[in-house]
Amino acid sequence: MNKISAFLLALLISLILAPAADAGGKIRVTTTTSMVTDLVKTVGGDRVEVTGLMGAGVDPHLYKASASDITKLQRAEVIFYNGLLLEGKLQDVFAKMARTKKHVYAITETVSEKELLEPASFGGHYDPHVWFDVTLWSKCVESVVQGLSEYEPKSKGYFEKRGKETQAAMRELHQWAKKKAAELPEEKRILITSHDAFNYFGRAYGFKVVGLQGISTVEEASLASMTKLVDFVKEQRVKALFVESSVSPVAIKRISEDAGVKVGGELFSDAMGTPGQIENGYDLGTYEGMIKHNLNTIVEALK
Ligand SMILES: [Zn+2]
Repeated sequence: MNKISAFLLALLISLILAPAADAGGKIRVTTTTSMVTDLVKTVGGDRVEVTGLMGAGVDPHLYKASASDITKLQRAEVIFYNGLLLEGKLQDVFAKMARTKKHVYAITETVSEKELLEPASFGGHYDPHVWFDVTLWSKCVESVVQGLSEYEPKSKGYFEKRGKETQAAMRELHQWAKKKAAELPEEKRILITSHDAFNYFGRAYGFKVVGLQGISTVEEASLASMTKLVDFVKEQRVKALFVESSVSPVAIKRISEDAGVKVGGELFSDAMGTPGQIENGYDLGTYEGMIKHNLNTIVEALK
């Protein structure tokens, strides 16, 4: 064997022996929605390398896993997803992953059943949009702390400390949100959007919430429900309707024309904004930025 082929052979052997993906000693985590990704990054700090499958503007209800997503899930050491059927088309994939991997977690599992909503329109299932009540999302922090600590017990203290800090920041955010919502008199707190993503938001911050589609975006709005909504908007003298960044705005725009009211802005519902996109000093690609953007937009438009 000459020198070059010996070198190539050594290189080949070192490549084969190297770990499948080197995350610099960090835990390789794969997540689904941008809210889950943000939460795991915040709690995991520099112990995790997080790959989120769904970015800004992506609708999780309709999302199907691509071949490269499956690879990302297979290469992950830990998987976190929202659960409560939010990622409707990925359930089978998670079930399969859970059989071969021990560390697959639905982060909403630490929210108690009595705190979950079960709207009639979702046919006996729980409403998955828990992140819009900051106090419920704060409970999901515990799933992330538990999951990461189970995978890497030596960092348990680190994850617990960061989890507590995250929850403290959320307590402050919740107070801010309550104060912001209170700028509107109660009768003006009517939120009309494309799909039923805001039931927990409504319960937490005192809004009557009307979604044109059901809980999931799978079902399209019928003509009858659109006509009903136009009547409702006129009767209640609602000042504005809202479109969502991850749902088609067509139906809401039509209702706004038919009812003669404006579209008050675009809300983040099932996906956050693009990281690094700054508005009034907060980053729209973070959970805090998402909540603040939504409340500011709603309160300004309905005033
Ligand atoms: Zn949704």
